[in-house]
Amino acid sequence: MNVTPFWLAGRPETGDGELTVTHPYDGRVVGTAAVPTPAQVEEAIAAADALRKQAAALPLHVRAEALAHVSARLAERAEEVARLITAENGKPLLWARGEVTRAISTFRFAAEEARRFSATTQRLDTDPAAEGRMAYITRVPKGPVLGISPFNFPLNLAAHKIAPAIAAGAPIVLKPAPATPLSALLLGELLAETGLPAGMFSILPVPNDRASALVDDPRLPIVSFTGSVPVGWAINDQAPRKHVTLELGGNGAAVVLPDADLDWAAQRIGLFSNYQAGQSCIAVQRVYVDRSVYEEFVPKLVDTVASLVTGDPWDDKTQVGPLVSQEAAERVEAWVDEAVAAGAKVLTGGTREGAAYAPTVLAGVPADAKISREEVFGPVMFVQPVDGVDEAFDLVNDSKFGLQAGIFTRNLDIAFRAHRELDVGGVVIGDVPSYRADQMPYGGVKDSGVGREGLRSAMADYTEERVMIFTGL
Ligand code: NAD
Repeated sequence: MNVTPFWLAGRPETGDGELTVTHPYDGRVVGTAAVPTPAQVEEAIAAADALRKQAAALPLHVRAEALAHVSARLAERAEEVARLITAENGKPLLWARGEVTRAISTFRFAAEEARRFSATTQRLDTDPAAEGRMAYITRVPKGPVLGISPFNFPLNLAAHKIAPAIAAGAPIVLKPAPATPLSALLLGELLAETGLPAGMFSILPVPNDRASALVDDPRLPIVSFTGSVPVGWAINDQAPRKHVTLELGGNGAAVVLPDADLDWAAQRIGLFSNYQAGQSCIAVQRVYVDRSVYEEFVPKLVDTVASLVTGDPWDDKTQVGPLVSQEAAERVEAWVDEAVAAGAKVLTGGTREGAAYAPTVLAGVPADAKISREEVFGPVMFVQPVDGVDEAFDLVNDSKFGLQAGIFTRNLDIAFRAHRELDVGGVVIGDVPSYRADQMPYGGVKDSGVGREGLRSAMADYTEERVMIFTGL
């Protein structure tokens, strides 16, 4: 089997070791990725650092054309890329294709933002002491970006690190997840076609035990991390002087109110608790249903979940495939067993076969069970009746996480109240918390992280304002 090279300052390289990538559904080897030596990592960082000023001065049309090129080439190679995602991650083709479509948009949005990346002016003579003065303001990259991406969206979350960096004029060193490096490395091929200066990007699948050194390196002053809560906050503690963005976990809540379209709510919640086998930071995990519609809603939800198509991720019809590993599925199983031992009832699912866990709905889950409090990151949700909006919103906020919440209502007052009162990065009205448009600000509060992604937000994060003041105007 060919070894997939990594990308060192824009060129393909092999190192002194290999990562073996296996398919979660049947454990077969689907590829190997070259691992860089410490000297090669040093070369990549030095190249990014050396390019700092030149990258910041790259003409906007050059950035925009490079990003648009990657978007167009991803579209041309969409099916091949989707198959690579399914091979390394195990997500069904249905979702892998969706991820490629999103990555195409992510690069396209970044190209659009690059064209809008302009300077502003501010008259300062609102103050008598500043008469005749004016400020010219640009946004300047804080320096090269260290992007660290997780396994669950191996292409699009790599895109969310790389695309805004290029648009903002910042070199980037990306470290993909060791389980799923191949789609990020394929992105390297497309970036290499753009003719961007050497040093603008490196994609280095270094193992976790060597990732700390990247976080420590002062030449990478921005760290954009997407991944688990403990690793994210440890990175934040490790690098207090850096600008750290953390996109971490959640235990997404959906609220179903009496005025909701119950069929729609059941379909959406049923699917988006289980898409990607629940391995999404905004998957639905907690479902709070107004007591007046609980009895009517729950059978609809259970029916939807029980009829999801599970199994082989290569089958076009499969909606729920395996988790990333058998260990991950065993952990989910243990958490469900714990809840059941404490009195929870399984309404559907609750079984495991290898790395696959059946889409599961629980009821009567105690408030202190892991399924209530932690991030399950598997195809499991629980339903709970609530008496009205106050109780529902209190329960949504009763979580250490705060990424997004979904409120099924048609009432505008309640929508605005949700936006005001829920401690989350985003409120989705009339749909699941799992909805994300790639151009919008996206991120969380509390343990779920700090900072926002989405092209414009990430570009703002990677840059800071620099002012030039004109005198005597
Ligand atoms: P993870 O934390 O295990 O790994 C994420 C990345 O961090 C990987 O590239 C990994 O190699 C790297 N890493 C691990 N230890 C490191 C260290 N000490 N120093 C530097 N890097 C290190 O997470 P995962 O299992 O790949 O992803 C799942 C998690 O990601 C879930 O908690 C999920 O909610 C979260 N996630 C969040 C978002 C979001 O946007 N908020 C999106 C997707 C996934």
